[in-house]
Amino acid sequence: MEKKNIDWQNLGFGYVKTDYRYVSDFKDGAWDEGRLTEDATIAISECAGVFQYAQTCFEGLKAYTTEDGKIVTFRPDLNAQRMADSARRLEMPVFPEDRFVEAVAEVVKANAAYVPPYGSGATLYLRPFMIGSNPVIGVKPATEYQFRIFATPVGPYFKGGVKPLTLKVADFDRAAPNGTGNVKAGLNYAMSLHAIVTAHDEGYDENMYLDAKTHTKVEETGGANFIFVTKDKKVVTPKSNSILPSITRRSLMVVAKEYLGLEAEEREITLEEVKDFAECGLCGTAAVISPVGKIVDHGKEICFPSGMSEMGEITKKLYDTLTGIQMGRIEAPKGWIKEIL
Ligand SMILES: *Cc1c(COP(=O)(O)O)cnc(C)c1O
Repeated sequence: MEKKNIDWQNLGFGYVKTDYRYVSDFKDGAWDEGRLTEDATIAISECAGVFQYAQTCFEGLKAYTTEDGKIVTFRPDLNAQRMADSARRLEMPVFPEDRFVEAVAEVVKANAAYVPPYGSGATLYLRPFMIGSNPVIGVKPATEYQFRIFATPVGPYFKGGVKPLTLKVADFDRAAPNGTGNVKAGLNYAMSLHAIVTAHDEGYDENMYLDAKTHTKVEETGGANFIFVTKDKKVVTPKSNSILPSITRRSLMVVAKEYLGLEAEEREITLEEVKDFAECGLCGTAAVISPVGKIVDHGKEICFPSGMSEMGEITKKLYDTLTGIQMGRIEAPKGWIKEIL
């Protein structure tokens, strides 16, 4: 198959229109059979539930070209499951998990010419999402929905090399104790935009959010989970029911235990103890792990020994192992890699 003429290395993280997307509509209590379409636009009522009461949730995953030239996705079944959880929390119909995984494969196949070649560092990012599509003016769930998956090629995350991030301990909250922080809802992002723009204006890369109730425990950033490495090389990650369960983070915890022979634990982590950690990283599909060099808590600086120029030792091992698994250089645990082409 002929690849598109794209400068893969210099792609950013932005929307590039590809040839096909998957669409399925929910009406009269059932999903239709679904289809691929070349139409990248959606025409719906100005009063649709998504516009009035933000009834929308989404997912994010990638397709990769492996070392031996196959096209694969990484644990799409977990995205399907998480989207089902998001839908239930937002009173939206669940798009069946097996159909989700099939639809992902269909979109990747149809856009195979946009899947960046092995070694370019670029990937095909997939964005499944669902919206309430019929008019809703009284506050209630929509009765009609659209599920859609589009694809867009994205460039290598660490383009100019790895640059550890500087974080700010946020005064804003991301998620309430019994709120929607554990589901991938657009609304969680809408209300985080002011906090991230403020952090950027002040010269920080990201916000570290604390638990909304006590402001003493570490939660996550706007779009990535934390992992920390203790001085005796134990991998720890915050436990809270208002954190979004990152698939990358859950996979890294398995990699730490099963591949690197490290202890790995999910537990409550206080802001107070962060200064004692050796390494800190942010995990998510986009970067796998971005190292954090410094966290500023109202003028008080926490500087990790790994510094501001490279990944910490364990962070690097976790990164290399997981990306090795995704790119087919390292044997994956059973069921992690779904071969598409
Ligand atoms: C999507 C997301 C993540 C990362 O999850 P992955 O499955 O690893 O991509 C982390 N935090 C938030 C708030 C997110 O929305």
